[in-house]
Amino acid sequence: MNQLVCTTCRSTYPLTEPIWRCACGGLLDLQFEAAIDRAALATRKPTLWRYREALPVRELVSLDQGYTPLLEIEVAGRSVWIKQDQLFSTGSYKDRGAAVLIGHVQALGVRQVVEDSSGNAGCAIACYCARAGIDCTVYVPASTSPAKVAQIEAYGATLCRVPGTRQDTADAVLAAAETTYYASHSWNPFFFHGTKTFAYEVVEQLGWRAPDTVVLPAGNGTLLLGAAIGFRELLAVGAIERLPRLVAVQAGRCAPLYRAFHGLPEAAPEPAPATTVAAGIAIPKPVRGPQILDAVRESGGTILAVSEQEIARALQTTHRQGFFIEPTSAATIAGVAQVVWDAAAGEVMVSVYTGHGLKAAGKH
Ligand SMILES: [Zn+2]
Repeated sequence: MNQLVCTTCRSTYPLTEPIWRCACGGLLDLQFEAAIDRAALATRKPTLWRYREALPVRELVSLDQGYTPLLEIEVAGRSVWIKQDQLFSTGSYKDRGAAVLIGHVQALGVRQVVEDSSGNAGCAIACYCARAGIDCTVYVPASTSPAKVAQIEAYGATLCRVPGTRQDTADAVLAAAETTYYASHSWNPFFFHGTKTFAYEVVEQLGWRAPDTVVLPAGNGTLLLGAAIGFRELLAVGAIERLPRLVAVQAGRCAPLYRAFHGLPEAAPEPAPATTVAAGIAIPKPVRGPQILDAVRESGGTILAVSEQEIARALQTTHRQGFFIEPTSAATIAGVAQVVWDAAAGEVMVSVYTGHGLKAAGKH
């Protein structure tokens, strides 16, 4: 049965309930029975909506997005398959989650949402709200640079600048979310049922087989948790025979998941997001942290930390190969460069370019 399930108290809600967390305050997951119609795929457009039997919403808010190219690229002397998710309309993989979440919002009849991201998630939510004609307010710290929020404003979203720290912004959006639907890329489970299409596309593009290893960024875990859902569903319907090993990559300067996974004490003082160029994955307290650790453990994978020097090297190398990506994307490729040395001959490894370089151009 398809329903929302609280990860804390196990309460359930129908999908039509316009909520983003449980009455007890717990995180909601989406219990969803996915299916796949491989015969029908041959006649469908190359977009993420081709997996409609696996998606909890209809194609209501669409830019014909998805099915990004999967290219074989050399990283540290080894061949790796890299999804070109920097090519989405808003310039990052976050389109996957926003298309499905805002489609759900549209189906609910909700006309107004709030979100709190000055980065790629805020851009994607603002874009799909613009397409759907939904009123969108994005909360950001007052200190956020105008360049960083220019794309969000261009889509017509209202910016709410909150004085003080990032925590003050989080508190302000949670207060607003008491009365307005919270289209959160970390809380809202529908977002993850959009990002899961990454796994469906990879498996189809590899000729209906699972890769051995998938290397993904981990900040809030929006792509990694989505991919984990997707691979589990593909296993459940018999489209693949085993789960790939998930390798999560964090920036060493803000690596709470890396520290927890390896049993290291928490960083003191608090990890400082501002000190890494990989700002998109610098999340000191990811709300789905325990789920990320579980997903990586279940797959037999690991969590890596990469240095600023490794990120800078990966960024330059990738640019010189002809791919213009943003610095956060390069952190993942730096992680790939670490693990390819341990890869067995013939191992199929997949990773991703998460965001376009134009996002960060001229903002340093
Ligand atoms: Zn609950």
